Amino acid sequence: MTLQRRIAVLAERAPGETRVAATPETVRKLSALGAVLAVESGAGLSASISDEDYRAAGAEVGPLDAVLANAQIVFAVQGPDPALLGGVASGAWVVAIIDPFGQRAHVDGYAAAGLEALAMEFMPRITRAQSMDVLSSQSNLAGYKAVLVAAGAYGRAFPMMMTAAGTVSAAKCFVMGVGVAGLQAIATARRLGAQVSATDVRSATKEQIQSLGAKPIFVESVAGIEGEGSGGYAGEMSEEYQRAQAELVSAHIAKQDIVITTALIPGRAAPRLVTDAQIASMKPGSVIFDLAAPQGGNVEGTVPDQVVERHGVRIIGYSNTPAHLPADASALYARNLFNFVSAFWHKEQGGPVLDEEIGEAIRLTRGGQVVHPRLQEQGG
Ligand code: NAD
Repeated sequence: MTLQRRIAVLAERAPGETRVAATPETVRKLSALGAVLAVESGAGLSASISDEDYRAAGAEVGPLDAVLANAQIVFAVQGPDPALLGGVASGAWVVAIIDPFGQRAHVDGYAAAGLEALAMEFMPRITRAQSMDVLSSQSNLAGYKAVLVAAGAYGRAFPMMMTAAGTVSAAKCFVMGVGVAGLQAIATARRLGAQVSATDVRSATKEQIQSLGAKPIFVESVAGIEGEGSGGYAGEMSEEYQRAQAELVSAHIAKQDIVITTALIPGRAAPRLVTDAQIASMKPGSVIFDLAAPQGGNVEGTVPDQVVERHGVRIIGYSNTPAHLPADASALYARNLFNFVSAFWHKEQGGPVLDEEIGEAIRLTRGGQVVHPRLQEQGG
């Protein structure tokens, strides 16, 4: 008989983190696979899940030490401090959004403790891993929330309204960067009744923008740009392109009421898309939500978690937007982890066994070493 796999679910300790890595639904599903779930007391409270809810789903609930004792798998949202993880089984997995470039000391700590750290944000963007893709699940919600927060800060309405007291005109909303978050931002702003336009460097997004009923704003003057880097991500653009893009944006942005920026280039600081001079050209009362705030911001002057006012324009950016939707963000994140573990569940072994493609993509540490090539290049 194989030993039942013990999965520990930690309460998050990072300031502002409201999410949790398992829900009663995923506790039930993981138990059905044959795992024992142990949830730290209070782990779900900020996502509106009580200890009792977890117990009712079949989990043990208790203090950190009890939960971690002999756990073979640790689930968390953000990579936990390795110092917390005493008592886990040797070679245990740590499954989380580990942020290895920002939290290098954590990675070294997992290696030193002989743990196998698995960075969920490194999940390859291949069809079979779509249901495990935490960046997509969280970006989608972030794109939605960005529009709602901007709408809340805007002193006018989004939809056109014809009233007895006169007409309210529709807000003009411009979405910069049309990946997962940008597509949801377009859809949300459209649902609220705004007139929406959007831009990206990847020309493949033009049709997606149109299919959502928004107007594409694209650099046409620089030939031969597809904007596509590896794995469907954007690459860095030429200077000529950047100049043309800045001119185009300058002409367009002055007429916008709401700007949502979402542009990212993997492994680099976020590209600067909106300058202070461009902000000055906007109407007072306009609102910018900068979803790239945690990566340095797309907008000049963004300060994470503060509302900054420049030239009468409010600039908003959260350091952790999905944490502002804790219940849904947790539900989707928890399902991503369940989908991951269950896809690799090996009946005879009584636990998950990774294949080469996904294992090599996400594994940061194993056997006391930092094993991920992107981290070894950095001298680790
Ligand atoms: P991302 O978060 O890395 O970047 C957001 C957007 O910003 C991207 O569309 C990017 O092209 C754009 N951008 C970068 N520089 C810019 C600039 N200077 N100006 C304007 N826009 C700029 O992207 P993402 O949301 O992670 O999605 C990237 C791609 O991956 C998309 O095509 C998405 O559909 C695809 N994807 C595939 C899978 C899968 O197959 N499993 C899963 C998720 C996403």
